[in-house]
Amino acid sequence: MRLHFLGAAQTVTGSAYLLETNKQRFLIDAGLSQGSAHSYELNARALPFHPRHLDGIILTHAHADHSGLIPRLVAEGFRGPIYATPPTIDLCRIILPDAGTIQEEDAKSENKWRRKHGKNLLTPLYTKQQAEHALKYFERLPYLKRTTLGRNIRLTLHDAGHILGSSIVELEVEGSRLVFTGDLGNVNNQLLRNPATLPHADYLITESTYGNRSHGRVSDRVAKLKEVVLNARGPVIVPAFAVERTQELLFDLHRLIAQGEIPPLPIYVDSPMAVSATALFEKHPNCLAPEIQAMFRTRSPFEMPNMHFIREAEASARLNKLNEPAIIISASGMCEGGRIRHHLYHHLSQEETTVLFVGYQAERTLGRRIRDGAPQVTLFNETIPVRAKVVAIDAYSAHADANGLMDWIGAFEEAPALTFITHGELAASEALAERLAEEHGLISVIPAPGEAYELMPASSSPSTLRLREETA
Ligand SMILES: [Zn+2]
Repeated sequence: MRLHFLGAAQTVTGSAYLLETNKQRFLIDAGLSQGSAHSYELNARALPFHPRHLDGIILTHAHADHSGLIPRLVAEGFRGPIYATPPTIDLCRIILPDAGTIQEEDAKSENKWRRKHGKNLLTPLYTKQQAEHALKYFERLPYLKRTTLGRNIRLTLHDAGHILGSSIVELEVEGSRLVFTGDLGNVNNQLLRNPATLPHADYLITESTYGNRSHGRVSDRVAKLKEVVLNARGPVIVPAFAVERTQELLFDLHRLIAQGEIPPLPIYVDSPMAVSATALFEKHPNCLAPEIQAMFRTRSPFEMPNMHFIREAEASARLNKLNEPAIIISASGMCEGGRIRHHLYHHLSQEETTVLFVGYQAERTLGRRIRDGAPQVTLFNETIPVRAKVVAIDAYSAHADANGLMDWIGAFEEAPALTFITHGELAASEALAERLAEEHGLISVIPAPGEAYELMPASSSPSTLRLREETA
């Protein structure tokens, strides 16, 4: 069998691995490349297979950098099935149509420029309508339910503890066991269960986002959150990703209030996507950490008299006049779009405001400029002075850090014969490869984008695995 590394190779987005046997062809993840000036070209590039000839997609989780290429594949003739856990499918119902809208808007604004300069116009990678159409090819596969794909491939999904519904993919193919971590979560994440550990893999394909870094402790992040809230003299504006980060924050705030550590000040979740995503946590409590499941049996941790979930634009606009201490959690997480820009527009110039960052701020984003201390920023074509207090808590992360990855890989009863390190910047992947060799004696490779490897059946002679490298 052959494994092609189509994306997330020496980078962190665009996850897509093609597994080919003599008879079948499956994709593990089909994600969008994001955050580069060439993202459109990367996402629209020719693929080494025709989507019509694909036998199925196995989706680890709903994040667009893992799922966002699916509508394109369906538009080009792929007809399913797409295997995913029920919460992943529910999240995709929110995330994929939204990705379609963004594709349409991006093409529109790019074409404005192209028209002016006499260039060829772009068509959107896919539309919202095409994304909605793709949803009908999903097939629910609960955790730990072993299923057969075609004639002889067995598939089992295990909890990855990264976001709601996220999975580790275990495939039994031609006498070998392949394990794909997808994005691996943290142990003691609070909200989700710990990533499942597996006894055995012949070939391991692991992410390495934080292969060279370590996160702060959960207790430190809660202490810092408490300090920010207690010191607030006006609104605390929190740009946060709608899925997972918003719910983690709500959970931490709920606990601080319940324990009497902070006053029950008003909390506004002002993002339609975050409101929908929060409802999904309530729909799938069995996928959450045991402590939270117990909580849900009495009352949802997302229900408190002072928590307000806002969908309507009018109610959102009323928050512009807010002066007293309150928490406004809004998207997008890097302040590049969405309602957060309105809150910043109205509150950044006031000294009483606190802007609290709880997520990664990529270069060249508005969030990054504010976080780095820009004295003024441009919002809606106006220059806004930044007088607000700016605070960042870095310990929120949906990914395992370097020690988390090492511990998880170290938990295999039988070490993998070969590990492919993906989904990380090269320095992070190399740091993980080095530690795996030193601490566990593991052999690993860091595939380059487009490379393919021939995997020898592990059952015949796992010690003499041969690799064949080629450029797709
Ligand atoms: Zn993810």
